[in-house]
Amino acid sequence: MLFYSTKTKGLKASLEEAVFRSLPPDNGLYMPEHIPQISSDFLNTIESRSFKDIAIEVAYTLLAEDISRKDIEKIIESSYDFEAPVVQITPDDYVLELFHGPSMAFKDFGARFMAALMSYFLVRSQREIQILVATSGDTGGAVAQGFYKVPGISVTILYPSGKVSDIQEKQLTTLGHNVTAIEVDGTFDDCQKLVKEAFLDNELTSKFNLASANSINIARLIPQSFYFFSAYAQLKKLNKPLVFSVPSGNFGNLSAGLLAYRMGLPVQQFLASTNLNNSVPRYLDKGVFEPLPSIETISNAMDVGNPSNFIRMTRFFNDDWNLVREKISGYYFDDEQTQKTMREVFGNTNYVLCPHTAIAFKGLQEYRLETCGNFVGIFLSTAHPAKFIDLVEETLGKSIDIPERLKSLLSIEKVSIKMKPSFNDFKMLLMNDL
Ligand SMILES: *Cc1c(COP(=O)(O)O)cnc(C)c1O
Repeated sequence: MLFYSTKTKGLKASLEEAVFRSLPPDNGLYMPEHIPQISSDFLNTIESRSFKDIAIEVAYTLLAEDISRKDIEKIIESSYDFEAPVVQITPDDYVLELFHGPSMAFKDFGARFMAALMSYFLVRSQREIQILVATSGDTGGAVAQGFYKVPGISVTILYPSGKVSDIQEKQLTTLGHNVTAIEVDGTFDDCQKLVKEAFLDNELTSKFNLASANSINIARLIPQSFYFFSAYAQLKKLNKPLVFSVPSGNFGNLSAGLLAYRMGLPVQQFLASTNLNNSVPRYLDKGVFEPLPSIETISNAMDVGNPSNFIRMTRFFNDDWNLVREKISGYYFDDEQTQKTMREVFGNTNYVLCPHTAIAFKGLQEYRLETCGNFVGIFLSTAHPAKFIDLVEETLGKSIDIPERLKSLLSIEKVSIKMKPSFNDFKMLLMNDL
């Protein structure tokens, strides 16, 4: 499979190049040159397959020219010791729980696969790489866990001191081994700037094979399509059209759903559910994409004013607004509506939603009201509510359980390197092997 740049159709890359470069040299995004169809025999029997079987079949359909079936099996086997179950919430609505991975957010699906795929290529070429990543919270945890102890890869994570939650900080700072956390006395933007400068520095790039693990990497997009197929497998017996509501920030998750749809997954409608960072719902409504500066909300992993995957999302429809809005409906909600939804769902069903997941459920409710359709609704749960425990407990007015995996983290001592937001300091650290 070749990947082309969304900015220059003729600028193409192999899978290996796309994965290690992350971005094409013209700063577009990599997209698959053509989209192979999942076999209809497979779709006809998908309800009897495990999550791993589904992941292997989808990955092989996309990457058969690049990696042998045996190696894809190994990559999937080493990536997923967790699944994506659906849980019924109302007679027709199901939550797709994507928080059973090591960092308890859906980003584990992408980070694990990307780590295994990079490791596969590195072992063959006997190279070593240094991953640099800036995080505002969830990405860092998933990347740290995903690359933990992966041979040939060291990971350096920069995070803004005092600006991530306790649990998120512990997820970055308690692993050790090949994972180093740098605590920057500054903002997320400072962290991101330091990483960008490092990639432009000749001395650093000649000493290290630097790579990035950011969310637009094609190796994170592909595996996120697996669980759309898995949700279909689990609900196929209901024999009704499916509607997916995706709580969105950078729109990687929704783009992965579109990839699954283009491969032949039967989906009636996708819902782009956002907080007040609503550039995409406004685009769906008006046909104009006007990114704005990010607004802070309680669903902070979705506080993205200018979503980088927007171009991927529209490219699946040849950038034709009329086609995009036929398949995707947009909804957005403020914090008050989000908290009201969390309380309502808890009151009616005892199910605890994280704020991001609540937005997805609310989008589904709105779509139901508008269409009165007879369909099965699936809303994606992108994080375990305990990751946002203070907000969730305050909203529901009661304490909630913390899973063992998170609880045990809190008692481990954090290890971080403190640093001013100075590129010189950062470079010295890297040059002296931290
Ligand atoms: C990253 C994240 C999102 C947004 O996903 P995108 O793919 O960027 O749209 C939503 N919820 C949670 C909890 C996240 O961590």
